Amino acid sequence: MKNNQARYIFVTGGVTSSLGKGIFSASLAKLLQARGFKVTIQKFDPYINVDPGTLNPYEHGECYVTEDGAETDLDLGHYERYLGIETSQANNVTTGAVYQTVINRERAGDYLGKTVQVIPHITDEIQRRMLVLGEGGKFDIVITEVGGTVGDIESLPYIEAVRQLKWKLGEKYFLNIHLTLIPFLASAHELKTKPTQHSVKMLLESGLQPDILVCRTEHHLNKELRRKLALFCNVNVNAVIEAIDAESIYDVPLNLLKEDLDEIVLSKLKLPKSSEPDLTTWKNFLSRLKNPTEFVQIGLVGKYVELQDAYKSILESFIHAGAANECKVKVVSLQSDFIDANNVADKLGELDGVLVAPGFGDRGIEGKIAAIKYVRENNIPFFGICLGMQCAVVEFARNILKMKDAHSTEMNIKTKHPVIDMMEEQKSITAKGGTMRLGSYDCRLFKKTKTFDIYKSQLITERHRHRYEFNNKYLKDFESKGMSAAGINPQQNLVEIMELKDHPFFIGVQFHPELKSKVEKPHPLFVAFVKAAMEYKNEGK
Ligand code: GLN
Repeated sequence: MKNNQARYIFVTGGVTSSLGKGIFSASLAKLLQARGFKVTIQKFDPYINVDPGTLNPYEHGECYVTEDGAETDLDLGHYERYLGIETSQANNVTTGAVYQTVINRERAGDYLGKTVQVIPHITDEIQRRMLVLGEGGKFDIVITEVGGTVGDIESLPYIEAVRQLKWKLGEKYFLNIHLTLIPFLASAHELKTKPTQHSVKMLLESGLQPDILVCRTEHHLNKELRRKLALFCNVNVNAVIEAIDAESIYDVPLNLLKEDLDEIVLSKLKLPKSSEPDLTTWKNFLSRLKNPTEFVQIGLVGKYVELQDAYKSILESFIHAGAANECKVKVVSLQSDFIDANNVADKLGELDGVLVAPGFGDRGIEGKIAAIKYVRENNIPFFGICLGMQCAVVEFARNILKMKDAHSTEMNIKTKHPVIDMMEEQKSITAKGGTMRLGSYDCRLFKKTKTFDIYKSQLITERHRHRYEFNNKYLKDFESKGMSAAGINPQQNLVEIMELKDHPFFIGVQFHPELKSKVEKPHPLFVAFVKAAMEYKNEGK
């Protein structure tokens, strides 16, 4: 192995799904980063979709978009939020993407007449992708979250690839951490280790021996239980780590620190433990989060609100922005389907701010528009993201510019006033996967706008995921009545931000600021929005 060879940590999951492998991986990475190592995290997902971009949010939660425009799993959002780094297309691999590469190579004749098989061709391609981020010296440690649960048929090629890598990488470059569940049986009043024993056996059958066992649990693990787990699962007793249920996902790094997880990992990887982890900023964030001096309620109007994961990054951004303002933000989910002109005052009257969410398609649109009319007329702080911004434009066109049937052509192709219209470059595209305007684009802010005062910078970059856009034909009409463009994309002259002049806080953005909010660097628009909600609560009502 070369000298600048990165260390690889593979995180597998046992017993059940939803154990929080993503949060665990991000927390471990945070501890290692706080000790001065350069760390990144990647996720391998066992489904056949080439990426999660075509998946319904009800199915898979939010689709997280990276700087380079990859549509990825929402766990990448956790990685970025915890570490303050940027991820990319290479950080999220699906079985579909692996097969696509192998099949394309087969069609190109690259296999020279050989039979193409799961082993070695698929497993080789998986290994190539598992190693790639660690090449070139950019990272000291690459953590790979292996999606799915050990024992699933579809995870097998990944486990086999990890097994082969164990031998190729060698001892101090490879570590397998197995995340498992220790259920508590209320009737017996006992924590049970058997499911973990079974899942480790299953891993062993695939040729993998975990080096560290991380145990999700509702109750503390005592010494005896740890010894039992160590004995049955062939790990050192100090490598049995407790991952106790936490009040906030942001407590997890500190809980794992108490268990000395970082030290154990570093000693197994033969890396120096010279400096103590510096978690000062992280701890400051947690202390502000847990000791709020104010409280606001913000409505989240969307059509996927039944599923928390569908708006993951927005919810996390409110946590970051709330902490920055020492304010507890209670997000009240409002299903846009059920909002109309008659009940809007009842539904929104108590709120200190309203965010209208991103989304696709017609369902719930009129509810969003009714909500926007209400907050605009009642001076309640409003923040519209992507579709939320488009709805604000439609509402203004209908009610202020008196263009009665104004709409986005996504919802009404025949509208006389297509104030939101499909971007020119989108018109010839028919394929759905990866074809939207995706990833990071420049935006130039105009001075003397609220948005400029918030960012305090003229050139910003933000991430996008949409096909429709403000129709510049109408810009003059809007500006003459007080809704103006606060920022445009300089290369294509696309309006990226609309704001109202005579309103305490009414900002709609075509991009997704929630994708860039970090624990240690909350997004300025969210911080300003929460602040506006606090001011509204204290003075405005
Ligand atoms: N459906 C809208 C578009 O494609 C908005 C997309 C979004 O909110 N992400 O432009």
